Amino acid sequence: MEYKVIRKKRKTLGIKISAGGELFVYAPTYVSIKTIENILVKRKEWIEEAKNKIKKYVHGDRILFLGKEYKINLIKTQDKNINIEFDASKFNVYIYEENSCCINDKIKDLLYSKHKEDFFHMINHRINILSEKMSVKPNKVSVRYQKTIWGSCSGDDNISINFKLALAPLDVVDYILIHELCHILHKNHSKEFWMAVQSFMPDYREKRKWLKTNSCNLSF
Ligand SMILES: [Zn+2]
Repeated sequence: MEYKVIRKKRKTLGIKISAGGELFVYAPTYVSIKTIENILVKRKEWIEEAKNKIKKYVHGDRILFLGKEYKINLIKTQDKNINIEFDASKFNVYIYEENSCCINDKIKDLLYSKHKEDFFHMINHRINILSEKMSVKPNKVSVRYQKTIWGSCSGDDNISINFKLALAPLDVVDYILIHELCHILHKNHSKEFWMAVQSFMPDYREKRKWLKTNSCNLSF
């Protein structure tokens, strides 16, 4: 466990996690490193939990967007607002040290507000390929941010795909597209429906499992 000790004239030991996910220990001058480490081990669970709550991304982490990995560079500034630049290879996240805002939320907001179109184009491209292969034709395709569902197919074959999937691997996105395209054939989750899904994607269960396990990471 990495941490930084800051000696202070104080009587108790304090543990703090910065917005960048770093662990700071504020310790009285007389407390030994060994004592500090013992306390950190005891509070390990709390620290991990707090770290997860504050943010998920740290400097050098990678984020998946439209099937491509981008590196996250955290750059400290005096500006208290989080600013993010996104280019062909990385996210530059300008952040004030004590800023308590969630970096991952900010990144997702930026992607949604500025790069929704990119996702929409990717979805359309894949749907064109898949629908031809499956001999089905959706009426209209749209992308929306949805809290609970990955996609939907209406009675008149309008397909809607959740923007959250922009952060999922491409084969998982394909599973959702195949799933919704199969609803053009079967407007239910009958045995026939699942057999159709399986015929176009034999390992679809793995993709479902991936979504179940990782859905919290895709959430806004
Ligand atoms: Zn369904």
